Amino acid sequence: MALGVVAGMALQSFTEAAWVTEVTATGFEKEVLSPDCARAAWLSPLRMIADLFLRLLKLLIVPLVLTSIITGVAGIGGGRDFGRLGGKTLLYYMTTSLLAIGTGMVAVNLMQPGTGAELGLEIPSEFGEGVKGGFGDVLSRMVPENIFSAVGSNSNMLQIIVFALIFGYFVARTREPHGARIRNFFESAFEVMMRMATGILSLIPYGVFALTAKVVGETGLGVFAPLASFMLLVIMTLLLHALITLPCILKFIGGISPIAWMKAMSPALMTAFSTSSSSMTLPVSMEAVERRGGASNRVTSFVMPLGATINMDGTALYECVGVLFLSQYYASHSPAFELTLGMQFFVVITALLASIGAAGIPSAGLVLKAMILKALGLPDDGVLLLLAIDRPLDMLRTVVNVWSDSCGAALIAKSEGDKILDQKPTTLSHG
Ligand code: ASP
Repeated sequence: MALGVVAGMALQSFTEAAWVTEVTATGFEKEVLSPDCARAAWLSPLRMIADLFLRLLKLLIVPLVLTSIITGVAGIGGGRDFGRLGGKTLLYYMTTSLLAIGTGMVAVNLMQPGTGAELGLEIPSEFGEGVKGGFGDVLSRMVPENIFSAVGSNSNMLQIIVFALIFGYFVARTREPHGARIRNFFESAFEVMMRMATGILSLIPYGVFALTAKVVGETGLGVFAPLASFMLLVIMTLLLHALITLPCILKFIGGISPIAWMKAMSPALMTAFSTSSSSMTLPVSMEAVERRGGASNRVTSFVMPLGATINMDGTALYECVGVLFLSQYYASHSPAFELTLGMQFFVVITALLASIGAAGIPSAGLVLKAMILKALGLPDDGVLLLLAIDRPLDMLRTVVNVWSDSCGAALIAKSEGDKILDQKPTTLSHG
């Protein structure tokens, strides 16, 4: 990114000098190479690299989301586990993700970091094939009429997610060996997709360089001011969720000391911070929940792996804030992009589903942002801009994702009678 800034600035000052006035044979003055022209010539390869990178990222969306959700949901199992434990777990996942999204949504609407920002992104003349209409339309369009036409386009992601949820649910309820065969197939496909994603995402440094150079070359350093306030907003809201909302739930619903639990979880939280990946952190977080926290293996082995794929509070919050930030930018440049109430509702649902669909690997949340923008009918090149500043935000949202999984495990384990942090189990407390 730093190299990109330097290259972009060099590009700007270098091309300033690139205009020449020639006097033609007939005595007229002619501008041969204007700075704009020269800059455009330099920018086009950078733009090509950035576009190519964006295409590779988008290539991942459909197969990654499809396999991630089917694997996660089919893994919930159809047997006795699903009953009480499954119900409590899903209730916790949903509630905390929606609380995170709500926090982000209120903050981004209050602070309006995108309004009037100069991000240098092209403003299209009107919404694409996105959401039009009210709640009812949005909801009914989420259900695909035909799965093959849904997987045929990145803008049908909601339909793909809804299909994957239903399909995964029934995979878990199909008699053996059929259920297991399909589950194994999708588990392996998911592994392959994660490897592929990690490979493509390892090109990020080059993408960030090309992109930063392009943006700085085009618009100068001014673009970093709105990005900095966006980052600040994301960081503040993530902290709010992790340090206020979740601890309150732990304390008041579970009667567990948030500080003691956080101390017990510290190895997992540090691993999440340094790897930016919930999946890579999973062994550490399971160990922390079980050994240091005192949850039973039955609860840990159900709640934690499922949480690492489908419960991502930090990612849900980030999806919502990022998409609203970009849409504020578009709306302040063209009234056609004002988001209606129906669309804000759509953003909430999509952010929730995107966090379920995101795989626990670095920058997965960013890739899914392209899908939400597409579904909203907004251009997705803003994703590239956010990519430049993604890593620190990714580290923090991964910590929040893992922290939320562990708080869920603590609550559920306690309600199942486990001795959390060596406290007396709730079931005995009134004896
Ligand atoms: N890196 C995050 C995780 O693994 C996902 C994301 O990119 O938001 O939990």
